[in-house]
Amino acid sequence: MLVDLGQISLEVSYIDGTKLESVANKYTFVWRKSVEKNKAKLEAKIRFILEQIEEGIAQDRDNGEQEQAPEIDSEELKERIKKLNESNKFDKKVNKAEFKALKELEKHQEKLEEYEQKLAMLGDRNSYSKTDTDATFMRMKEDAMNNGQTKPGYNVQIGTENQYITNFGIYSNPTDTTTLNSFISLHYARFGSLPKLICADSGYGSHENYKFLEQNGIQAFVKFPYFHKEQKRSYKQNGFLVDNLFYNPKGDFYICPIGQRLSKIDKKRTTSSTGFISNIDIYKAENCQGCPLRGRCHKSKDNRIIQVNHDLLAYKAKVRERLTSEQGLYHRSKRPIEPEAVFGQMKFNKQYKRFRHKGFSKVQMDFALFAMAFNIQKLWKNMATNLKKVCLTFYLPIFTLMHSFELKNIYKRRFKEQIA
Ligand code: SF4
Repeated sequence: MLVDLGQISLEVSYIDGTKLESVANKYTFVWRKSVEKNKAKLEAKIRFILEQIEEGIAQDRDNGEQEQAPEIDSEELKERIKKLNESNKFDKKVNKAEFKALKELEKHQEKLEEYEQKLAMLGDRNSYSKTDTDATFMRMKEDAMNNGQTKPGYNVQIGTENQYITNFGIYSNPTDTTTLNSFISLHYARFGSLPKLICADSGYGSHENYKFLEQNGIQAFVKFPYFHKEQKRSYKQNGFLVDNLFYNPKGDFYICPIGQRLSKIDKKRTTSSTGFISNIDIYKAENCQGCPLRGRCHKSKDNRIIQVNHDLLAYKAKVRERLTSEQGLYHRSKRPIEPEAVFGQMKFNKQYKRFRHKGFSKVQMDFALFAMAFNIQKLWKNMATNLKKVCLTFYLPIFTLMHSFELKNIYKRRFKEQIA
């Protein structure tokens, strides 16, 4: 409807994210580290009890066959306990100690199952809330106690155009970088097309994202970390920085400030948390011994080594050119009054700082309703403003003219009356 009314084109998307608190209490946390630590302790206890029981059984056995200790897995442990119970070697009166150990094992099996369930619930997250298991503990901007306490919440990503919310996504991952690909896919799923241009802050500037955007024909006005820093004179004039070293693409080597060659010695592959693989080239200076600039150049005891991702550098060069162009300056100046303004409206004017529901699907419904209401109000305001403009430019002069004629007639009449 907004497209039909000419309010938005769906071709531009200004993207940003914010954290919204879950309705869950902040003391309902489950941390991956503590679950893993406690699980490891429990496994050690189980292993110890099993070894003791196994030993007892092995001694009783005529053939002396030793069964292998089972893997510490709640299902297998359950099976194992069942077999031990069936073996009739754990009589409450005769083998008191063994019987006690078996009962203890049964309790541990339940606890182990609980830990496994918690780990499954965590997935690739580091925490979740007991009362809203889809919520993850993250740092919020609104930190009343100023102690950096984490609270259960969701990472809400929005895409805006003319301050209308055109796309949104709810994530449990607190970092914006890894949400972009899925967020753009959501845009496609909703509208059947991709935006032609996106503008976002440096939190989204990664190798994976640049590649994804280029492959999908989306113009990226997305800053990268250090974008502002590298514009400064002090950065540009620092000849020791990798970005400022001279590179010879033909010979594939760098030249350091003193004129020595840094030759390629190796390459490696790095994999991001999302599984994206980057190729890194490693270069090493021939001899840094006795170099007068060494103190300013590097701190390594050996010769200087640098690691370069050439693909990323190429993407950065393209993005830099785009961001510093006239169009880039326009979009960069517009970005703070697009999603940022919507977040301001949302959190402070409308006090929408916390979800009212639990779980991903309900939280999505919660935000979708908010976004629709927000857009309707925005449309109403825009229409009212347009109406006002029309009134001021068209009807007001006519009204003023008519009014002045009326006044003229009144005075004329009065003047005639006075003469008479
Ligand atoms: S320390 Fe090594 S890399 Fe740095 S300027 Fe001197 S020779 Fe070149």
